[in-house]
Amino acid sequence: MKIKAAVLREHGKGYKIEELELEDPKQSEVLIKYAFTGYCHSDLSIMKGHIKMPLPMVAGHEVAGVVEAVGPGVTLVKKGDHVASTWMIPCGHCPTCRSGMGNLCLTSFDVFAQGTMLDGTPRMRDAKGAPVLHGAFVAGFSSHAVMPETGVVPLPKDFPLEHAALMSCCIPTGWGAVHKVADVRLGDRVAVWGLGGIGLNIIRAARMRQAYPIIAIDLEKSREKLARELGATHFICNADVDPVPVIKDLTNDRGIDFAFDAVGDPGVIEQAWWALAMNGTIVLIGIMGDEQKVNMSLQLSPFHHKDMIGGLYGGISTHDDIPKLTNAAMRGDLLLEKLVSGTFKIEEVNDIAERMEKRQLTGRWLCEWR
Ligand SMILES: [Zn+2]
Ligand SMILES: [Zn+2]
Repeated sequence: MKIKAAVLREHGKGYKIEELELEDPKQSEVLIKYAFTGYCHSDLSIMKGHIKMPLPMVAGHEVAGVVEAVGPGVTLVKKGDHVASTWMIPCGHCPTCRSGMGNLCLTSFDVFAQGTMLDGTPRMRDAKGAPVLHGAFVAGFSSHAVMPETGVVPLPKDFPLEHAALMSCCIPTGWGAVHKVADVRLGDRVAVWGLGGIGLNIIRAARMRQAYPIIAIDLEKSREKLARELGATHFICNADVDPVPVIKDLTNDRGIDFAFDAVGDPGVIEQAWWALAMNGTIVLIGIMGDEQKVNMSLQLSPFHHKDMIGGLYGGISTHDDIPKLTNAAMRGDLLLEKLVSGTFKIEEVNDIAERMEKRQLTGRWLCEWR
């Protein structure tokens, strides 16, 4: 079938809207008609080439839609089901899956990076018949996509699809960073650098865990209002001031127990390191470019028991946690109506990327497929 897609052909050069040919789903694969695709900061990192992916590719990894067709052997979903996608697909059998870390599935990780289906081949071709790769199994910036049936999670039909899209990345990544990677407890002192979609969900999750204080830090003062609405108790604009002494003041000179870097920046890590309390931990969520280096002394780290830990996809178990998070959202706990700031058409995706790069966007912006 013919589909519309934003194709990334060269890092740093933006997306090109193209008509592609999409094959039918094969064994254990499904065809999804997308409804909404979120624009995540990782999409910008891939477009700019800070995260290098094989090209040409249809990126985009935060999607919800409706099952339009199923291939042979599909048992997990049926035509008409509403689904959210997942950008890592646990095989369930490898050592990391068996240890409960399906976000690091040894079977799927390399396939995820190469941009194909699980059989090693793509399902999309361009007008010249050349293959086009699937970003993170999902190929979110396309009107329709084929993906493994294990890459979608069925959700209730009365859950709005624009909220369902957020279940694919920013909600589980933010929630999981707090609940699973850090395991924030009652009264833990928390600071979050970077108030994009994931940073805001970290704040919400920290609030639900009764952390205090929850200090939101961003270069843009305009992001304070939404951060406070989602649960931040304090805000620091680090374009104006060094946040380290302010954090020390707010914590009786002790520092914070958890610093979440939702930016992916050496300067943030340095600020976070000096803001940590003894036995504190930096949780690395944002992704730095390969050329970015952190240059600082770690001499005091063993003395102070300071730690640093990465968190991919919030360490979640996709098919267990996304339905639970959907229930929390349907109860109103996640404040998703505040998180979605606007929608755009796929033809506007380069404009959205530019506005994100200039930090002009607040909350989450979604491509709406009609
Ligand atoms: Zn994302
Ligand atoms: Zn696995």
